[in-house]
Amino acid sequence: MAAKPLNIAMLSLHSSPMGSLGTRWNGGMSVVLTATARELARRGHRVDVFTHRGDSRLPEVVFLGPGVRLVHLSAGPPGPASPLALFDARQDLARALDAFRVRCGVHYHLVHSHYWVSGVVGLRIAIRWGVPHLITFHTLAAVKDATQAAPPEPALRRDQETALARRCQLLLAPTPVEAGHLVDLYGADPGRIALVPCGVDLQRFHPVGQALARRRLGLAPRGRRLLFVGRLDPMKGLERLLDALALLDPPTPDLAVVGGDGPASDARQRLASAIRDRGLHARVDLVGRIPPEKLRFHYSAADAVVVPSVYESFGLVLLEALACGTPVVATPVGAAPGLITSPEAGRVSGDTSAPSLALGIRAVLDAPSMPSPLAIRPLVRPLAWGRVTTALESAYRETLGNRTPRG
Ligand code: UDP
Repeated sequence: MAAKPLNIAMLSLHSSPMGSLGTRWNGGMSVVLTATARELARRGHRVDVFTHRGDSRLPEVVFLGPGVRLVHLSAGPPGPASPLALFDARQDLARALDAFRVRCGVHYHLVHSHYWVSGVVGLRIAIRWGVPHLITFHTLAAVKDATQAAPPEPALRRDQETALARRCQLLLAPTPVEAGHLVDLYGADPGRIALVPCGVDLQRFHPVGQALARRRLGLAPRGRRLLFVGRLDPMKGLERLLDALALLDPPTPDLAVVGGDGPASDARQRLASAIRDRGLHARVDLVGRIPPEKLRFHYSAADAVVVPSVYESFGLVLLEALACGTPVVATPVGAAPGLITSPEAGRVSGDTSAPSLALGIRAVLDAPSMPSPLAIRPLVRPLAWGRVTTALESAYRETLGNRTPRG
C-alpha cells in the first residue's frame, strides 16, 4: 500500500523564497526550500511554506506550484525584518501561523524549519500541534564566528541554536562536516542527525559551450575569465579572491562577479573600493545580480568558477558550475572536498588564504587542455533534486515512524 501523503509546514521566516537570489538575505536557502517543496508536492504531499510578510502589498497566499503554497504571515514588523526583529516577534508569528492552520482546517504532520529563527517559532508550534520538528540550520553561529571574517553573531543566536540542536526530533545536515559541528559544538545526539545533501536543477544548469556563451554575453571570444557567483557577504571570501587575483603572474585572468544588492548597497561600495585599492578595476567586472535561469551562460563562459568562501554549509554555486561543465577552484569548506575529487572538477585549495587560492587557480588555468564539460557534469548527476528529495522524504517518514515528542 502506498504511504499516506503528508501535510508539511515549512518555515522560512527571515527570507522569502519569492525574494531575489544573490541579495543579502536570499541565497541557497531559498533555492533548497523551493526545489524540495515542489518535488515533495510532485510526490503527492502538500507543502505550505510560511514566511514573514515583509511587504503589505503581497497577498496572504501565493502558489509556488501545484501543491505548494507560500503563506505570508502578518505578524511582527510591518516591513522587511532582520532575524533578530523576528525573534522578538516569535510569539506573534507562532500565533499567526496557528491561526492560519485553524482557518484552513489543515492538520500538519510535521514542521520543517529553515535557519535558527524559524526553528525558534517552529519548535513552539510543533509542540503545540504535537508533531515532530525538523530543522536545517543552513549556517551555524559557532562556525561562522570561528572564521572571524565578520563581526560576531549575537550570543542569543548561538544559545537558540544549541537549544534547537538538542530539542528537535531531527537535524538535517547537508555534509558530514556539518553533522560533526552539530555534535562537537552544539552537543547534538548523532542518532538524531540525518545527512541530506543539497541538489541541483540539471535542466536549468547545463553546458552551453564557451564560445556560444561568450557571444551571447557580448564577451571577447578569447582571454581567461574567472567567475564568482553569490551574495556579497564577508563569509564568501571575495576580498581574498581579489588578493589572489593580484598575486597571479601574467597571463592574468579577468574576474566576473555575479550577485549583490545593486550599485548603491554598502556591500557593493565596499567591494568597488577593495577592487580600486588593489588596482584591479580593469580586470574585475561587477556584473550584478543575474536571474537563475540566465546563469548557465555565465558559468559556461568562464574558464573556472571560484568559490573562495571562508565558511559554506554546502555551496550550491559549486554544484551549478559543475552541472554546466565548468571546473571549480574552491576553498576546503562545505561540499567542495567531497565533490572536487578529480583534476577535471578543479582544485580544492589547501586553506582559505589568497596564496592557496592563487595556486589552485593557476593549476586549473595552466592545465595542458581544458577538461570537457561532458566529463565534469556527471559528477553532480547523483545530486539531482529528485534524488535529494527522496532522502528528505525518507528522513520525514523515519521521524514520523519513531516519534517521541520532545517538550
Ligand atoms: N544566485 C542567483 N543569482 C545571483 C547570485 C546568486 O541566482 O546573481 C543563486 C545561485 O545560483 C545559488 C544561490 O543564489 O543558487 C546561492 O547559493 P549558495 O549555496 O552558493 O550560497 P548562499 O547564498 O546559500 O550562501
